Amino acid sequence: VTVRGFCTRAAPLDFTQIQITRLPTVVILGRPNVGKSALFNRLIRRREALVYNTPDDHVTRDIREGVAKLGDLRFRVLDSAGLEAEASSGSILHRTASMTANVLARSNFALFLTDARAGIHPLDLEVGKWLRKHAPQIKPIVAMNKSESLFDADDSLATAANEMCRLGFGDPIAISAETGLGMHELYVSLRPLLEDYMLRVLNDTDEGDHENSHDEDSSNLDVDKSKLPLQLAIVGRPNVGKSTLLNALLQEDRVLVGPEAGLTRDAIRTQFEFQGRTIYLVDTAGWLQRTKQEKGAASLSIMQSRKSLLRAHIIALVLDAEEILNAKGSMKHAEVVIARRAVEEGRGLVVIVNKMDLLRGKHKSLSYEKVMEVVPQEIQTIIPQVTGIPVVFISALEGRGRSTVLNQVMSRHSWKDQAAQPKVKYFTQVKARPPTFVAFVRGKTLLSDTDIRFLTKSLKEDFDLGGIPIRITQRSVS
Ligand code: GDP
Ligand code: GDP
Repeated sequence: VTVRGFCTRAAPLDFTQIQITRLPTVVILGRPNVGKSALFNRLIRRREALVYNTPDDHVTRDIREGVAKLGDLRFRVLDSAGLEAEASSGSILHRTASMTANVLARSNFALFLTDARAGIHPLDLEVGKWLRKHAPQIKPIVAMNKSESLFDADDSLATAANEMCRLGFGDPIAISAETGLGMHELYVSLRPLLEDYMLRVLNDTDEGDHENSHDEDSSNLDVDKSKLPLQLAIVGRPNVGKSTLLNALLQEDRVLVGPEAGLTRDAIRTQFEFQGRTIYLVDTAGWLQRTKQEKGAASLSIMQSRKSLLRAHIIALVLDAEEILNAKGSMKHAEVVIARRAVEEGRGLVVIVNKMDLLRGKHKSLSYEKVMEVVPQEIQTIIPQVTGIPVVFISALEGRGRSTVLNQVMSRHSWKDQAAQPKVKYFTQVKARPPTFVAFVRGKTLLSDTDIRFLTKSLKEDFDLGGIPIRITQRSVS
């Protein structure tokens, strides 16, 4: 393993200080099963993607995006789903290929993954051809994955590398997504490309921005803490329309939607801009999926989704209008649990009633109004401690409701005043009769009456204090 490329750099760019939305985008391409997801996972260092060795039921169907960390490098990375030469129209792979073309148009660089042990597969050549056709401007870095066993064997690495030259994209690098071997080679190959790109982008901005007096302090490059991205989790039972909504929010065909069961098993994270703010979408489609045949994959998704839920600032709980009507206005138990949990965890909750288009039409106008009346009432009943939880009625399929949803999401999140929000630092009982507690609160304001009522109710529930009066006072701490 050689270590090169360090001493030649004059002033290394600090990627960690660059706003995520401005980072270059690198797409991982390759035929199915070469290890795209495995590499993606390694780069984003979070178990947000599922890796299964099942070519027949290939799990990686969505395009996922994350922020890659490779040494001090940062870039956006896209995991494309497998490309298939003989994709028949309408199949998952066919649709995926068209999405991949779409993604390619937004990528600055590509990692072309192959399997070092397998040598060149006909599909690799197809991918190469396809790449030249759709993105001639992108010169990919060819990475032979699964190289770990070849490092030891005499000349097998050289033989494999020699064969990869036939792809016509220059010298390959040898990596192993699974063991991490070769990540340094990847770093050395990517660094100059990404640095050049970033310097160009930063120069362009400087020229266009005369207000900017070429601040020498590059450590503050583009970092504005009040503009930290908002994390939005879309949750709900299968088939309520989460993926459809996600696509409507993104205004592009990024997440597959269709009749195949369990299509959106992965937690998908992606981002977009709305009114100048970055919104991170944490798709938690797998949240409640528990079908028997998919037990392994589904339970993983559930765990990931729980984590996503805790990471999110705002939870958008999607309900199916028609189901609500059929259930005479009641939400399912699981939905009630999520709604409560979201509020208890201090997340902003926005309830989205989807598929309103199904209730339209003369003979159904009554039901339309009924749903609009019943859902807010039920929310108020199950979460009495918070008033004014927004309920939005939309049709994701018709693309209606995007701005309504996003405006509600934004209004549930106070961007600038995050630091000013009261936070309970300590909470302690100071007197037994009546049970009296003091909350030590940090922030510009104290807890509201609603907060206090919520605390009181939680204490009563958690400690079985039924009819006993409880007092809570609060003190400000810095
Ligand atoms: P994708 O279809 O290109 O996204 O491929 P996956 O990431 O799903 O990987 C396909 C299979 O290859 C899985 O069984 C992985 O565990 C395996 N795999 C991925 N990377 C490596 C590697 O570096 N070495 C070995 N030996 N196996 C790997
Ligand atoms: P998910 O499992 O929650 O991600 O649900 P999907 O987004 O995959 O949607 C499930 C099914 O409901 C698909 O067939 C969608 O076309 C359909 N669907 C989603 N949103 C709407 C809507 O607003 N109206 C109608 N009529 N159907 C919808």
